[in-house]
Amino acid sequence: MKWTPKDDRYDHMLYNRCGNSGLQLPAISLGLWHNFGDDVAHGRKVEICTTAFDLGITHFDLANNYGPQPGSAEIAFGKILREEFAGLRDELVISSKAGYRMWPGPYGEWGSRKYLISSCDQSLKRLGVDYVDIFYSHRYDPNTPLEETMLALDQLVRAGKALYVGVSSYNTARTKEAYAILKSLGTPFIIHQPSYSMLNRWVETDGLLDTLTDTGLGSIVFSPLAQGMLTDKYLKEIPADSRASQGKSLQQGFLSEENMENIKALNDIAKRRNQTLAQLAIAWVLRQKAVTSALIGASKPQQVIDCVGALKNIAFTDAELNEIDKYAQN
Ligand code: NDP
Repeated sequence: MKWTPKDDRYDHMLYNRCGNSGLQLPAISLGLWHNFGDDVAHGRKVEICTTAFDLGITHFDLANNYGPQPGSAEIAFGKILREEFAGLRDELVISSKAGYRMWPGPYGEWGSRKYLISSCDQSLKRLGVDYVDIFYSHRYDPNTPLEETMLALDQLVRAGKALYVGVSSYNTARTKEAYAILKSLGTPFIIHQPSYSMLNRWVETDGLLDTLTDTGLGSIVFSPLAQGMLTDKYLKEIPADSRASQGKSLQQGFLSEENMENIKALNDIAKRRNQTLAQLAIAWVLRQKAVTSALIGASKPQQVIDCVGALKNIAFTDAELNEIDKYAQN
């Protein structure tokens, strides 16, 4: 039966303002890095996206290279936009990025104007849209002047191909430089996309969260579940259909005895809060004022439902936070 969006889809999601901008993002957003490539049946991708949208997830995050094959996630999402999400473009925030290897030769990665602008054009074609809502520099390029990368982002906005721009995985110093350049150009730079989870706290120690607050930037934090480690799926064994067993980006070595002990202790804390571990992990990143949205991935619709359940309890006592600190180790 053809899917139609639920009427109550905006009733339960929390929407946070992205820094000082006018854009609000759902507290939980969906990323299409894994599970949207040629290796997964299209019907599964449709189920995940429509489940997310019905729960108020309006923001879908992509990049040029998401697959496999690189580009296939954007093609799959383009098909969903045409078929299931037809007529809903104005209810959606779609992002894409360029920075990692996308095509052979010297113009197929990093941060040159040549690469960023042609890559954005390719993404628009694959998605079948005139513009993306947010376009990111996916990683800092040490060999290209930052002014060049930022001017390319600025040009994408002026050409109407992106409404807002962001940077991903830039450290604090580079973020401040990017901010100064884009501020002087008047570019709508509103968001940073760093990694952040109970097992990866670099944004706290590097001062990035403070910098985001000082500059009025928002953030969307990727891999808040540490690619699935901060869920109940690895507590007993490595399930056959998991990212770790398929030798994807989650190395089994990360599931070390030490990490597993911490994960089990965090699971006990989650149980006491009547949450799943995934819900605790999401609530914990959202406790930071500088975090606008937690950017999750999902291989099944049920995982999206479980994650959105986090919003039922996002408050922490000081005692809970102190106890979590004992086990939330990089
Ligand atoms: P997560 O940390 O949310 O990990 C997602 C994985 O966790 C799922 O694929 C699934 O694993 C498992 N999972 C999710 N929910 C549950 C649940 N409720 N119960 C049990 N298991 C669950 O995020 P990702 O690492 O997938 O990253 C999310 C997004 O962030 C990406 O899609 C991308 O958009 C973005 N990203 C950006 C990067 C950048 O450089 N800017 C880098 C990496 C990601 P399984 O598949 O094993 O079932």
